[in-house]
Amino acid sequence: MGSNSLRLILFFSVLFTLALIEFVVPYRKRILKRKDRWVSNFFLIAIANLLVKISVPVGLIAFSDLFREKGYGLLNVIEVNFYVSIIISLVLLDFLIYVQHIISHKILFLWKFHRVHHTDIDLDVTSALRFHPIEILFSILYKLFFIFIFGISSESILIFEIILSSMAMFNHSNIHLPKRFESALRMFIVTPQMHIVHHSVKKYESDKNFGFNFSFWDRIFKTYIKNFEGSDKIGQNHFRKIKDQSLKSLLIQPFLKIKVK
Ligand SMILES: [Zn+2]
Repeated sequence: MGSNSLRLILFFSVLFTLALIEFVVPYRKRILKRKDRWVSNFFLIAIANLLVKISVPVGLIAFSDLFREKGYGLLNVIEVNFYVSIIISLVLLDFLIYVQHIISHKILFLWKFHRVHHTDIDLDVTSALRFHPIEILFSILYKLFFIFIFGISSESILIFEIILSSMAMFNHSNIHLPKRFESALRMFIVTPQMHIVHHSVKKYESDKNFGFNFSFWDRIFKTYIKNFEGSDKIGQNHFRKIKDQSLKSLLIQPFLKIKVK
């Protein structure tokens, strides 16, 4: 079985399992019905997967193999044990996408694309990969740059992409976790209850909890917030109508002229 089929099988298994748990033990009451968001979310996920995600990990992997062959990148220059280099790469990639996430909130041009992800007024497993296709392209170029600089191996990229998409589905999912279990888990990884605060309508809350996998980056760099501090309203104040969730609205949203961030 090719690595792409493995990724797709894993992807749909995680998606299906989390959607089922959401149905059995939901965390929050939904504002909109699933059908009002899921069509757009699935279309965006499909566009991402078909246009970019399927071709590009292969592309990133091909580039990574090329860099290894040519001896480019830090990890291809220094002698490191293969398994150690995978661990270093996974931690490094997680840190790099934490930084990328902060940048995509701070630079207005990038925020306009990232805002599409934040427009979802309910969070569930389908929100996890609902990104504007252009943001996905940016993120691929960003990763490619660091794969080149650090000489990250194709094995590391594949493992990281699988962990990242599974973790994103987990920490956007609307599932209830027992409180003590959630607090213990949160010491190491980003839980749904930690990540949802990042989707708050309030900017000082959405400027927190940027992590995707490990929860310690936010603690180390002081971008951590434990809970919602006022209301627990999520989404974007400018885009709260059902029509704002349509596929067309989401695709054109970055190009709209609106006054506020
Ligand atoms: Zn964000």
